[in-house]
Amino acid sequence: MSAAPFVLAVHGGAGALARGPRSRRHGAHRAALAAALRAGRAVLAGGGSAVDAVITGVAALEDSPLFNAGHGSVFTAAGTHELDAAVMDGATGRAGSIAAVTRIRNPVVAAALVMRHSPWVMLCSAGAERFAADHGAQMVDPAYFFTRARYEQLEHARQRQSVELDHDGAARAQPRDAEDGTVYGTVGAVALDAAGNLAAATSTGGLTNKPLGRVGDSPIIGAGTYAENASVAVSATGVGEVFMRLVAAHDIAALVRYQGRSARDAAKEVILRRVPRAGGRGGAIVLDRRGNLAMVFSTEGMYRGAMPEVDV
Ligand code: ASP
Repeated sequence: MSAAPFVLAVHGGAGALARGPRSRRHGAHRAALAAALRAGRAVLAGGGSAVDAVITGVAALEDSPLFNAGHGSVFTAAGTHELDAAVMDGATGRAGSIAAVTRIRNPVVAAALVMRHSPWVMLCSAGAERFAADHGAQMVDPAYFFTRARYEQLEHARQRQSVELDHDGAARAQPRDAEDGTVYGTVGAVALDAAGNLAAATSTGGLTNKPLGRVGDSPIIGAGTYAENASVAVSATGVGEVFMRLVAAHDIAALVRYQGRSARDAAKEVILRRVPRAGGRGGAIVLDRRGNLAMVFSTEGMYRGAMPEVDV
């Protein structure tokens, strides 16, 4: 797709987004995606690694209240927040993830700490928080994750007795709030750096009204997040259970690696055929070492952007 020596793409979650003339309502989200892209791009332009670029881009989106990750995370059924995140380095195959954490401001930063400073791949709950705090991650009071829009989304989900993908619940529950841009999406990034290395990262609050302890695909390496230089970097979003059962991110990479399919072709096969056939829906951003980028989704929309353009 690009002759540039480096590439960065981000997504802000998939779901029932309004499109066409109503797309003005997405202005705040587009601005936040653009800011995240600028931050990640600065890392790459300065000769930084793909891993640092995806961490920087995702952390910027975690700090926004607009997305279902970090600050803007959705509520569990218990009225709390449990956050998941992962990062993977395509050059080394190393990965780190954290799950069901309640006090870490930037879960993607904690996932990177696990990758870089432990022999483990995944830490969860209190142990992940202890590890993150010991390694300098910024800890916050759980109240930091309270946002009014997400709380109203929880109340609507409770009334319907449903567990919901953030965009869908938001779109049904809060058409007015969507108008001024107060809700939406799991976040992720994929990058190719000037040294030719790939990386991927994903961060989420999960599903609105999910039971305590439920962990989705985002922090599961191969399900919602995957990167290997020999194939592609992938960050997915959607109904996590189906992505886990299909090991969807790895499935995309395997089609590229073993069948020689293009990033776009592989993404379409998994996101538009295999995931729907298994009863799921969602999207993924997929990037190969030549800079070919695919952004594919089976939902009405998926917030997404790549340098230099941003779109929904
Ligand atoms: N995949 C996430 C999960 O199931 C949700 C999302 O992408 O919005 O936790």
